[in-house]
Amino acid sequence: MQVLHSIAEIMAFLRELNELEPKRAKNPGKNPSDRQKAINKRIEAVRAELPAPILSHHDRIRARGKSSVAAVKHWVCCACFLQVPSGSRANLITLEDLPICEHCGSYLYLDDKQPEAPKQ
Ligand SMILES: [Zn+2]
Repeated sequence: MQVLHSIAEIMAFLRELNELEPKRAKNPGKNPSDRQKAINKRIEAVRAELPAPILSHHDRIRARGKSSVAAVKHWVCCACFLQVPSGSRANLITLEDLPICEHCGSYLYLDDKQPEAPKQ
């Protein structure tokens, strides 16, 4: 498969997609608002950048109502709260492969933001 984007870029797209998709109206009706149109347009653009196997994995997780990406804090996956095995930790920094939680299947990224920022 041709590599179009770096792993870091793919993770950025995935994180954006996970933020955008919940904002999409479930029943847009015949006259979606401009905001809805913009969101849908951006979702399509982001999805077009992602390789098909990654997208289908993402869609499978999203179909269960979960986010397909999870932050890693203190080497714990924030989706399933299990430890990232030591053998997988280096890859989270070097990003040679797309990091994935071997317990829950979420794509992983290192959380470097301020901890305990509550999200609704
Ligand atoms: Zn996990």
